[in-house]
Amino acid sequence: MFKKILIANRGEIALRIQRACREMGIKAVMVYSEADRDAKYVKLAEEAVCIGPAQSGLSYLNMPAIISAAEVTDAEAIHPGYGFLSENADFAERVERSGFQFIGPTPESIRIMGDKVSAKQAMIKAGVPCVPGSEGELPDDPVQIKRIAKTIGYPVIIKAAGGGGGRGMRVVHTEAALINAVAMTKNEAGAAFNNAAVYMEKYLQNPRHIEIQIIADKYKNAVYLGERDCSMQRRHQKVIEEAPAPGIPRKIIERIGDRCVAACKRIGYRGAGTFEFLYEDGEFYFIEMNTRVQVEHPVTEMTTGVDIVRTQIMVAAGEKLPFTQRQIQIRGHAIECRLNAEDSYKFIPSPGRITMWHPPGGPGIRVDSHVYTNYFVPPNYDSMIGKLIAHGDTREQALARMRTALGETVVEGINTNIALHRELMIDAKFMEGGTNIHYLEGWLADHARK
Ligand code: ADP
Repeated sequence: MFKKILIANRGEIALRIQRACREMGIKAVMVYSEADRDAKYVKLAEEAVCIGPAQSGLSYLNMPAIISAAEVTDAEAIHPGYGFLSENADFAERVERSGFQFIGPTPESIRIMGDKVSAKQAMIKAGVPCVPGSEGELPDDPVQIKRIAKTIGYPVIIKAAGGGGGRGMRVVHTEAALINAVAMTKNEAGAAFNNAAVYMEKYLQNPRHIEIQIIADKYKNAVYLGERDCSMQRRHQKVIEEAPAPGIPRKIIERIGDRCVAACKRIGYRGAGTFEFLYEDGEFYFIEMNTRVQVEHPVTEMTTGVDIVRTQIMVAAGEKLPFTQRQIQIRGHAIECRLNAEDSYKFIPSPGRITMWHPPGGPGIRVDSHVYTNYFVPPNYDSMIGKLIAHGDTREQALARMRTALGETVVEGINTNIALHRELMIDAKFMEGGTNIHYLEGWLADHARK
């Protein structure tokens, strides 16, 4: 096992990984930007290295600074967390070339899955069902583009091959709007992702977002850890996640889970990963794979009892998966609310000093957060300040516990989306379960009219 790991991230996930290291008796080296100098997880670290100013481009995305921090502290491995460099194949390659273990898949796997066009092609080969769409990247010829859209049938969605974080997508309802939409998406994709390639998919009208968590070792053992329902989204970004997905028969989940495991073995995948699907009328359609730990991993940990971050570290160190598929049992239900420093209904970011932080507790409640009273939320990064997770024997119990937890939570000094979560936890349709990916946007539009 590693003696020392460098954590190339910030915020709650940096703390989450630090906790896993502590539990495993591994020393954790934290890196931080000037904006995160006072963060408690930095202060509590045995070793911490400043890697640059607040702008992520000069700190958390600064590969030479991170690698030299690993060199001077004598770390053996680098955990990238999520976001930042976690899905950057060049970074994974540089980490390994510098003699460190990258805690994640091989650079080749990241490269294939990081390009959504090549990811879909790999999945089709591995027998994983995909959203009907263009075969690969769209050509330049408008006549051909129109022909492809006609074959798929409107509405279609134009997506950037290198897109992520819910950006680089455009829905098109008519042929008249098609060519312009493709040009605009290409331009944006070139600027934002440094890759102007776009592809086309059928735009599904009422799907749910269901994803399968997998974990694999270097010896072609792979296991899926059930599914998550992440349909509660705003602007293609997840707001609430839960496991298991309400109302989907286990048989259907098992079938798609087995396909994902087979795909991992086929491509020689190692580490944690997530196959994201849209689910409509009993069918799964692959949209992309994330080759890292995800924000919503705790709902899977609560329902399977598997520590995903710990297992990531174990398999990166060359150990075998410590469980088989048959040993994975789903226990009860878990729901996660993402707590953001933003206005509940206008979504305007609200960085600044937290003058009072009182997190909830009690049976089945887990709080993953790096903040505390007097913490300053820097304006430079994502607005998430933590996650509230509630586990119960049933979905009803998990919901009841989440309501109590949200009622106990006090955050003063900044605006948060806690009020929104409180309303959603008593919303009749959400309580019923099985809402689709458009439900929250519709709910918010209704709310704005009231
Ligand atoms: P990203 O990498 O930016 O997260 P994804 O491909 O995972 O992009 O898509 C994010 C979200 O966008 C999905 O959860 C879904 O809400 C919506 N979406 C993507 N593709 C489609 C599609 N073909 N039909 C309908 N909605 C889609």
